[in-house]
Amino acid sequence: MIKARKVSYAYGETVALRDVSFDLPRGQTLAVVGPSGCGKTTLLGLIAGLLPITAGELLVDGAPVQPRRPGTALILQDYGLLPWKTVRENAALGLRIRRLPVDAADQALREVGIADLARRWPHQLSGGQQQRVAIARALALGPDLLLMDEPFSALDALTREEMQDLLLAIWRKRQTSLVLVTHSITEAVYLGQQILVLSRRPGRVVDLFANPAVGDRR
Ligand code: ADP
Ligand code: ADP
Repeated sequence: MIKARKVSYAYGETVALRDVSFDLPRGQTLAVVGPSGCGKTTLLGLIAGLLPITAGELLVDGAPVQPRRPGTALILQDYGLLPWKTVRENAALGLRIRRLPVDAADQALREVGIADLARRWPHQLSGGQQQRVAIARALALGPDLLLMDEPFSALDALTREEMQDLLLAIWRKRQTSLVLVTHSITEAVYLGQQILVLSRRPGRVVDLFANPAVGDRR
């Protein structure tokens, strides 16, 4: 699904990533872990096509990354919900933008367990519920690649565990490929079939290893 070869990236003088290589087979999960500033968000931005590839090779589904690839869904830490739209409207946003039928949003809300909250406003939801809306919005589009940037770090520990298990359930059911960025080693080990460890400066790969425990939970 993703092939990265010696991908590097710099913001002016600041080298954010240096020589990052990995392969993510279709339907598998990769956790990217490392301290703040090690280049995790930059790597996701490159995979999502939000930043240009300036050094190395990065293929998604066999093709060089292009902005707005339809199958790629990016879920950010702040849920990106529009406060003046209901849960249902927020979940349907991606579909509306693409002029697709909105039924898939209701299905996605059921899948993340908040169909009963469809008429609420975002401010009436807990953090975990808001995160579910953001995930539903992404799932409604039927992505084959989910990219998540510290999705659960703002949540309390119990909610975080619930959301991690929800994510595993979605992954099992949909067989999507997943790249999850986290600063938590525990979370990386719980969710990543492969774990890519980056060092603080300048975003080098310290380690890349397979974690069979996740596959066993599939
Ligand atoms: P992480 O997500 O692991 O915290 P980032 O990818 O956000 O790391 O940042 C990697 C490095 O690039 C850091 O040194 C950061 O300060 C720098 N950086 C990130 N975004 C920018 C930017 N827009 N302009 C300049 N430097 C940046
Ligand atoms: P933090 O991420 O807050 O820095 P830790 O690095 O201690 O904290 O990681 C704790 C993370 O691991 C939390 O996201 C927690 O939900 C998760 N976690 C710990 N044990 C389990 C478990 N048995 N099953 C699922 N998730 C777990």
